[in-house]
Amino acid sequence: MEPCSGQADFFVTIDFDGTINESDVTDAVIKKFARPDWQEAERLWEEGSIGSRECLSLQMALIDAPLEHIVEYACTHPLDPAFRDFLELLRDASIPFAIISDGFKPIINGILAKAGFSGIPVHANDLLEGKTGLRTIFPNTSSVCHSGTCKCKTADLLAGGLPIVHIGDGRSDFCISRMATHVFCRGKLTGYCVENEIRHSPFTDFQGVKNDFETFLNGGTPLSPEQDADMGLSRSFGNQPQGVTPSPGLMTPN
Ligand SMILES: [Mg+2]
Ligand SMILES: [Zn+2]
Repeated sequence: MEPCSGQADFFVTIDFDGTINESDVTDAVIKKFARPDWQEAERLWEEGSIGSRECLSLQMALIDAPLEHIVEYACTHPLDPAFRDFLELLRDASIPFAIISDGFKPIINGILAKAGFSGIPVHANDLLEGKTGLRTIFPNTSSVCHSGTCKCKTADLLAGGLPIVHIGDGRSDFCISRMATHVFCRGKLTGYCVENEIRHSPFTDFQGVKNDFETFLNGGTPLSPEQDADMGLSRSFGNQPQGVTPSPGLMTPN
Protein backbone atom coordinates (compact mmCIF):
# COMPACT_ATOMS: atom_id res chain seq x y z
CA MET A 1 0.00 0.00 0.00
CA GLU A 2 0.96 3.62 -0.39
CA PRO A 3 1.39 5.87 2.63
CA CYS A 4 -1.84 7.94 2.79
CA SER A 5 -0.23 11.33 2.50
CA GLY A 6 2.98 13.23 2.74
CA GLN A 7 1.91 15.06 5.89
CA ALA A 8 2.70 12.63 8.66
CA ASP A 9 6.31 12.07 9.44
CA PHE A 10 5.96 8.54 10.71
CA PHE A 11 4.24 5.30 9.79
CA VAL A 12 2.22 3.33 12.34
CA THR A 13 2.30 -0.45 12.31
CA ILE A 14 -0.08 -2.41 14.51
CA ASP A 15 -0.02 -6.03 15.57
CA PHE A 16 -3.37 -7.84 15.69
CA ASP A 17 -3.41 -10.87 18.05
CA GLY A 18 -3.12 -9.73 21.65
CA THR A 19 -2.97 -6.10 20.58
CA ILE A 20 -6.03 -4.94 18.60
CA ASN A 21 -7.72 -8.14 19.61
CA GLU A 22 -7.41 -8.64 23.30
CA SER A 23 -6.81 -12.36 22.98
CA ASP A 24 -4.57 -14.29 20.64
CA VAL A 25 -7.19 -15.34 18.10
CA THR A 26 -4.79 -17.44 16.03
CA ASP A 27 -3.99 -19.45 19.14
CA ALA A 28 -7.64 -19.74 20.08
CA VAL A 29 -8.55 -21.01 16.60
CA ILE A 30 -5.82 -23.65 16.71
CA LYS A 31 -6.83 -24.81 20.19
CA LYS A 32 -10.46 -25.03 19.15
CA PHE A 33 -10.19 -26.64 15.71
CA ALA A 34 -6.86 -28.40 15.25
CA ARG A 35 -6.37 -32.10 15.95
CA PRO A 36 -4.35 -32.70 19.17
CA ASP A 37 -0.96 -32.93 17.41
CA TRP A 38 -0.90 -29.11 17.35
CA GLN A 39 0.63 -29.24 20.82
CA GLU A 40 3.76 -30.94 19.56
CA ALA A 41 4.34 -28.14 17.03
CA GLU A 42 3.69 -25.58 19.76
CA ARG A 43 6.28 -27.26 21.97
CA LEU A 44 8.90 -27.13 19.20
CA TRP A 45 8.12 -23.46 18.64
CA GLU A 46 8.26 -22.66 22.36
CA GLU A 47 11.69 -24.29 22.67
CA GLY A 48 12.91 -22.48 19.57
CA SER A 49 13.44 -25.50 17.31
CA ILE A 50 11.07 -24.17 14.66
CA GLY A 51 9.91 -20.69 13.66
CA SER A 52 6.31 -19.52 13.61
CA ARG A 53 6.11 -20.10 9.85
CA GLU A 54 6.74 -23.81 10.23
CA CYS A 55 4.69 -24.02 13.40
CA LEU A 56 1.62 -22.39 11.82
CA SER A 57 1.88 -24.57 8.70
CA LEU A 58 1.92 -27.70 10.82
CA GLN A 59 -0.92 -26.55 13.03
CA MET A 60 -3.26 -25.23 10.36
CA ALA A 61 -2.85 -28.47 8.39
CA LEU A 62 -4.47 -30.16 11.38
CA ILE A 63 -7.72 -28.23 10.92
CA ASP A 64 -10.57 -29.75 8.93
CA ALA A 65 -13.26 -27.17 9.70
CA PRO A 66 -14.44 -24.87 6.93
CA LEU A 67 -12.91 -21.39 6.95
CA GLU A 68 -16.36 -19.90 7.39
CA HIS A 69 -16.79 -21.66 10.76
CA ILE A 70 -13.34 -20.62 11.83
CA VAL A 71 -14.00 -16.97 11.08
CA GLU A 72 -17.36 -17.16 12.82
CA TYR A 73 -15.67 -18.51 15.94
CA ALA A 74 -12.84 -15.96 15.70
CA CYS A 75 -15.43 -13.15 15.69
CA THR A 76 -16.50 -14.08 19.22
CA HIS A 77 -13.18 -12.66 20.48
CA PRO A 78 -13.64 -8.97 21.19
CA LEU A 79 -11.54 -6.14 19.79
CA ASP A 80 -10.18 -3.45 22.07
CA PRO A 81 -13.16 -1.07 22.25
CA ALA A 82 -10.91 1.99 21.94
CA PHE A 83 -9.32 0.77 18.71
CA ARG A 84 -12.09 2.49 16.74
CA ASP A 85 -11.26 5.90 18.23
CA PHE A 86 -7.56 5.36 17.74
CA LEU A 87 -8.12 4.53 14.08
CA GLU A 88 -10.23 7.64 13.69
CA LEU A 89 -7.43 9.70 15.16
CA LEU A 90 -4.93 8.24 12.67
CA ARG A 91 -7.27 8.90 9.76
CA ASP A 92 -8.13 12.43 10.89
CA ALA A 93 -4.44 13.25 11.25
CA SER A 94 -3.59 11.58 7.91
CA ILE A 95 -1.10 9.30 9.62
CA PRO A 96 -0.36 6.31 7.41
CA PHE A 97 -0.77 2.93 9.09
CA ALA A 98 -1.15 -0.79 8.53
CA ILE A 99 -1.96 -3.87 10.51
CA ILE A 100 0.94 -6.30 10.22
CA SER A 101 0.24 -9.66 11.74
CA ASP A 102 1.71 -13.14 11.93
CA GLY A 103 -1.89 -14.37 12.04
CA PHE A 104 -4.15 -15.02 9.04
CA LYS A 105 -5.68 -12.46 6.75
CA PRO A 106 -9.11 -14.09 6.22
CA ILE A 107 -9.57 -14.35 10.00
CA ILE A 108 -8.45 -10.77 10.68
CA ASN A 109 -10.51 -9.36 7.82
CA GLY A 110 -13.52 -11.36 9.01
CA ILE A 111 -13.25 -9.96 12.53
CA LEU A 112 -12.72 -6.40 11.30
CA ALA A 113 -15.65 -6.61 8.87
CA LYS A 114 -17.92 -8.05 11.55
CA ALA A 115 -16.98 -5.12 13.82
CA GLY A 116 -17.89 -2.70 11.03
CA PHE A 117 -14.41 -1.66 9.93
CA SER A 118 -13.46 -1.22 6.32
CA GLY A 119 -10.47 -0.05 4.35
CA ILE A 120 -7.85 -1.08 6.90
CA PRO A 121 -4.69 -2.36 5.20
CA VAL A 122 -3.87 -5.81 6.56
CA HIS A 123 -0.59 -7.61 5.84
CA ALA A 124 -0.60 -11.12 7.23
CA ASN A 125 -0.32 -14.78 6.34
CA ASP A 126 -2.98 -16.28 4.12
CA LEU A 127 -5.15 -19.36 4.19
CA LEU A 128 -6.59 -21.36 1.34
CA GLU A 129 -9.33 -23.87 1.74
CA GLY A 130 -8.32 -27.05 -0.04
CA LYS A 131 -9.97 -30.44 -0.37
CA THR A 132 -7.71 -31.75 2.37
CA GLY A 133 -7.96 -28.97 4.91
CA LEU A 134 -6.41 -25.54 5.21
CA ARG A 135 -3.27 -24.60 3.35
CA THR A 136 -1.05 -21.80 4.66
CA ILE A 137 0.50 -19.20 2.40
CA PHE A 138 3.22 -16.84 3.58
CA PRO A 139 3.57 -13.84 1.25
CA ASN A 140 5.63 -11.75 3.72
CA THR A 141 8.58 -13.93 4.62
CA SER A 142 12.22 -12.91 4.74
CA SER A 143 15.52 -14.68 4.96
CA VAL A 144 16.33 -13.07 8.32
CA CYS A 145 13.22 -14.14 10.23
CA HIS A 146 11.56 -17.47 10.76
CA SER A 147 8.19 -15.82 11.24
CA GLY A 148 5.33 -16.42 8.84
CA THR A 149 5.20 -12.68 8.33
CA CYS A 150 8.50 -10.88 8.83
CA LYS A 151 7.22 -7.62 10.24
CA CYS A 152 10.48 -5.71 9.83
CA LYS A 153 10.69 -6.44 6.12
CA THR A 154 6.99 -5.82 5.55
CA ALA A 155 7.09 -2.51 7.43
CA ASP A 156 10.20 -1.44 5.60
CA LEU A 157 8.44 -1.97 2.26
CA LEU A 158 5.30 -0.13 3.40
CA ALA A 159 6.74 2.83 5.24
CA GLY A 160 8.47 4.37 2.26
CA GLY A 161 11.36 5.59 4.38
CA LEU A 162 9.20 7.07 7.15
CA PRO A 163 10.19 6.24 10.73
CA ILE A 164 8.04 3.49 12.22
CA VAL A 165 5.98 3.62 15.38
CA HIS A 166 4.96 0.08 16.28
CA ILE A 167 2.25 -1.22 18.62
CA GLY A 168 2.46 -4.84 19.67
CA ASP A 169 2.73 -7.46 22.37
CA GLY A 170 4.68 -10.56 21.44
CA ARG A 171 7.50 -12.45 19.83
CA SER A 172 6.39 -11.66 16.29
CA ASP A 173 6.98 -7.98 17.14
CA PHE A 174 10.62 -8.38 18.14
CA CYS A 175 12.17 -7.85 14.71
CA ILE A 176 10.14 -4.76 13.82
CA SER A 177 10.74 -3.25 17.25
CA ARG A 178 14.45 -3.10 16.57
CA MET A 179 13.89 -0.85 13.60
CA ALA A 180 11.06 1.22 15.11
CA THR A 181 11.61 4.74 16.32
CA HIS A 182 9.14 4.11 19.13
CA VAL A 183 7.27 1.04 20.39
CA PHE A 184 4.03 0.79 22.33
CA CYS A 185 4.29 -2.54 24.08
CA ARG A 186 2.72 -4.98 26.45
CA GLY A 187 3.27 -8.65 27.25
CA LYS A 188 6.58 -10.25 26.21
CA LEU A 189 7.43 -7.27 24.03
CA THR A 190 7.91 -4.99 27.03
CA GLY A 191 10.75 -7.08 28.44
CA TYR A 192 12.28 -7.29 24.99
CA CYS A 193 12.24 -3.50 24.63
CA VAL A 194 13.81 -3.04 28.05
CA GLU A 195 16.52 -5.62 27.37
CA ASN A 196 17.38 -4.16 24.00
CA GLU A 197 17.12 -0.52 25.06
CA ILE A 198 14.38 0.19 22.54
CA ARG A 199 12.40 3.37 23.11
CA HIS A 200 9.00 2.31 24.31
CA SER A 201 5.82 3.11 26.20
CA PRO A 202 4.01 0.24 27.90
CA PHE A 203 0.28 0.36 27.16
CA THR A 204 -2.77 -1.24 28.69
CA ASP A 205 -5.27 -0.52 25.93
CA PHE A 206 -5.85 1.66 22.88
CA GLN A 207 -7.34 4.41 24.99
CA GLY A 208 -3.87 4.93 26.46
CA VAL A 209 -2.15 4.75 23.07
CA LYS A 210 -4.65 7.23 21.67
CA ASN A 211 -4.05 9.63 24.55
CA ASP A 212 -0.29 9.50 23.96
CA PHE A 213 -0.73 10.13 20.24
CA GLU A 214 -3.08 13.03 20.92
CA THR A 215 -0.62 14.62 23.30
CA PHE A 216 2.13 14.20 20.76
CA LEU A 217 0.04 15.61 17.90
CA ASN A 218 -0.90 18.59 20.05
CA GLY A 219 2.75 19.31 20.59
CA GLY A 220 2.88 18.39 24.27
CA THR A 221 5.32 16.04 25.89
CA PRO A 222 3.49 13.02 27.21
CA LEU A 223 4.77 11.60 30.45
CA SER A 224 5.47 7.97 30.31
CA PRO A 225 7.15 6.05 33.12
CA GLU A 226 9.69 4.62 30.68
CA GLN A 227 10.86 7.96 29.39
CA ASP A 228 12.78 10.80 30.94
CA ALA A 229 12.31 14.41 29.89
CA ASP A 230 14.75 14.05 27.02
CA MET A 231 13.06 11.04 25.60
CA GLY A 232 9.49 12.23 25.26
CA LEU A 233 7.45 11.02 22.33
CA SER A 234 7.83 14.38 20.62
CA ARG A 235 11.48 13.52 20.22
CA SER A 236 11.15 9.84 19.61
CA PHE A 237 8.41 10.14 16.99
CA GLY A 238 9.99 10.73 13.66
CA ASN A 239 13.44 11.84 14.67
CA GLN A 240 15.35 8.62 14.87
CA PRO A 241 17.83 7.29 12.37
CA GLN A 242 16.34 4.52 10.30
CA GLY A 243 17.64 1.51 8.46
CA VAL A 244 18.59 -0.60 11.45
CA THR A 245 18.77 -4.12 10.18
CA PRO A 246 17.97 -7.09 12.36
CA SER A 247 20.98 -8.56 14.09
CA PRO A 248 21.86 -12.24 13.62
CA GLY A 249 20.33 -12.77 17.06
CA LEU A 250 16.96 -12.24 15.41
CA MET A 251 17.36 -15.36 13.40
CA THR A 252 15.91 -17.24 16.30
CA PRO A 253 12.27 -18.18 15.78
CA ASN A 254 9.82 -15.39 16.39
MG1 LIG B 1 0.52 -10.24 19.12
ZN1 LIG C 1 11.60 -9.45 10.54
